[in-house]
Amino acid sequence: MCHTGAHKINNTIGQILLAERLGKTRIIAETGAGQHGVATATVCALRGIECIVYMGEVDIKRQAPNVARMKMLGAEVRPAKSGSRTLKDATNEAIRDWIDNPIDTHYIIGSVVGPHPYPDMVARFQAIISKEIRMQLKEQTGQEIPDHIIACVGGGSNAAGALYHFLNEDDVNFILVEAAGKGIDTDHSAATSVLGTHGVIHGSMTLLMQDEDGQIIEPYSISAGLDYPGIGPLHAHLIKTGRAEVHSATDAEALKAAFELTRTEGIIPALETAHAFAILNERKFENDDVVVINLSGRGDKDLATYISHLDRY
Ligand SMILES: *Cc1c(COP(=O)(O)O)cnc(C)c1O
Repeated sequence: MCHTGAHKINNTIGQILLAERLGKTRIIAETGAGQHGVATATVCALRGIECIVYMGEVDIKRQAPNVARMKMLGAEVRPAKSGSRTLKDATNEAIRDWIDNPIDTHYIIGSVVGPHPYPDMVARFQAIISKEIRMQLKEQTGQEIPDHIIACVGGGSNAAGALYHFLNEDDVNFILVEAAGKGIDTDHSAATSVLGTHGVIHGSMTLLMQDEDGQIIEPYSISAGLDYPGIGPLHAHLIKTGRAEVHSATDAEALKAAFELTRTEGIIPALETAHAFAILNERKFENDDVVVINLSGRGDKDLATYISHLDRY
């Protein structure tokens, strides 16, 4: 429900202030669905700083409204034409630009991924989410600690923000939901923690989808915000040590959950977010459990997809 439609703005506001403090005059960013690009273009418009957003050529075609928003906000959208021409390739291009322009340019990365200190820094900017969860829970239930927190995971920033102030609370169970795409056992999935192995991508050691030669396996999901071949190193750690429980939802399960949430609560969620809600149909809880589910974004950008499935739900 945040301005620009998702949690991304928490991070871009923090990073634009940092860029100004560092004396940078040029901002670059990568984007998949366009949400991070829009959030970055928004803070650049606010602060009057030049903005260049790298976006895969394929994503430029399928996320036209967000491309229009970025241009209207005064950003330049540069197509990434290599590889699968999606998020990973846009990230490659942004990192190339950053290496070429180390003096005047700050790279605003969009999730808890990339080289240190980005995973740490982005998690801290998003930590406002769990700070607010604690305050709101206190108001609603009288206590600040929930039994479960559920969040969807692309790179992992909304989940990291929702968990951050509970990381040392052993009684809080973390439930992370990845995109299974057409199914984990098909070639069209983005369930990185199940399909991924130990490796390095974009400067972090983490779990990632790769073949025996270390070449990236293209991820797939109906939601452009979840089809990243890696996950943040924090999440890889939480999963590997058993601190977090991980689930996945398919395209069809996410669509069903999106329509259910819309019709029961009057909230049209982002397709990414709908994956988190989808697991409520299978994961059972105790009657008196306090369950927090992070609604990472609203569904305006996904209306075309929802409309094309309207007759089925
Ligand atoms: C970008 C995005 C995501 C996925 O990114 P994370 O870093 O995993 O949070 C999830 N939901 C929405 C609405 C998004 O825009």
